[in-house]
Amino acid sequence: MSFKVPRGTQDILPGQSEKWQLIEEKIRELCHLYRYKEIRTPMFEATELFQRGVGDTTDIVQKEMYTFEDRGGRSLTLRPEGTASAVRAYVEHKMFGQPDQPVKLSYMGPMFRYERQQAGRYRQFVQFGVEAIGSADPAIDAEVIALVMDIYSTVGLKDIKLVLNSLGDKETRDAHRQALIEHFQPSIGEFCSDCQSRLEKNPLRILDCKVDREHPLMASAPALPDYLTADSAAYFAKVKMYLDALGIAYEIDPNLVRGLDYYNHTTFEIMSTAAGFGAITTLCGGGRYNGLVEDIGGPDMPGIGFALSIERLLLALEAEGVELDVKDELDVFVVALDDEAKVKAAELISSFRAKGISADMDYIDRKMKAQMKAADRLGAKFVLVLGETELAEAAANVKTMATGDQQKVAFHDLVNYLSRINRL
Ligand code: ATP
Ligand code: MG
Repeated sequence: MSFKVPRGTQDILPGQSEKWQLIEEKIRELCHLYRYKEIRTPMFEATELFQRGVGDTTDIVQKEMYTFEDRGGRSLTLRPEGTASAVRAYVEHKMFGQPDQPVKLSYMGPMFRYERQQAGRYRQFVQFGVEAIGSADPAIDAEVIALVMDIYSTVGLKDIKLVLNSLGDKETRDAHRQALIEHFQPSIGEFCSDCQSRLEKNPLRILDCKVDREHPLMASAPALPDYLTADSAAYFAKVKMYLDALGIAYEIDPNLVRGLDYYNHTTFEIMSTAAGFGAITTLCGGGRYNGLVEDIGGPDMPGIGFALSIERLLLALEAEGVELDVKDELDVFVVALDDEAKVKAAELISSFRAKGISADMDYIDRKMKAQMKAADRLGAKFVLVLGETELAEAAANVKTMATGDQQKVAFHDLVNYLSRINRL
């Protein structure tokens, strides 16, 4: 019997996990700079939360959720995205009552969607996202966009573009909805069955269809910007003004509608423009969701957020040939030549570690030469050899691997000596 990872999932092995850690670290630093505090919510929620929060007409809810019944007969779903959970927690913990507003949250963790497996599309993937809840100021739309652009440039991506649109307010969407129905109705028979059911429920979704994207009626469909109310247009103009002030370039795409039901006003995606990135170029999606907090049982509070996956970020880095500056260093390897030396080696590496010096030794009884090779393979900066003589003298030679220099140091002085030259 042999086992494999479930389809659409992956093991992240040592060698690769260091990259993940580095990216996560950079993201956390930026969250700190922008003051988006981490929230950790459960990996599963009541199914209804996503039906309500993500929307019944979305692909996520219709086809992609991992839904199961627990032993108590409750319907639960592995979270397919982070916003619904964050907003649920915001409402449940009455964060709207906190003195410090807007509430700026961030999260990072696995999400689950039953998708067809292809490059950049996993069934378990890690999303990082933020939510700023409690402000309808266009300046904060620009701030969340600035944060995600900062993340991409900090990890070293250059070939990315920001695509922007406004879905307007309710009035805008209602007028546009009517126009879409009139546009698609006469020929709806030529569209996929999903689009046919979207026509009445949520015709905007048709524009996001992956099956019919080449249908001529798509390009000629009524464009949202033509339906923006004066207020919505003014809001959008301010978002653009702030982005200009921050020096963030963008492209307007009037057909950018995004996969989730709850968006209004600002929506955006960030795409990779790197050659050879493949068919799926969207790295990040986000937008404003005024109304969602109320839908989930809270007060009428506006919000905006985005989500990106680390998997696609890594693919973009690969496509651009960016090498992350991953540090995989070992400070000291202690070579022990007999059983007695081994005890001393264990004692020494423990004292090194206690002082923040990374240290390792042999645990499979290798000969001296093989231990030296292991030290080399691990990239040890310093190597100590312990044998009878060293134990008798209570001192050992510290070899600096980069230069070949050797220095005899008393055992009791090793920690100080290593701390000092390790910093040079
Ligand atoms: P797509 O159109 O690619 O299916 P989406 O609209 O479903 O994207 P969102 O729900 O907005 O995507 O998720 C935000 C981001 O999460 C995406 O831009 C992408 O980077 C990432 N993402 C979404 N689904 C997956 C997946 N199955 N595997 C890896 N990353 C994903
Ligand atoms: Mg999707």
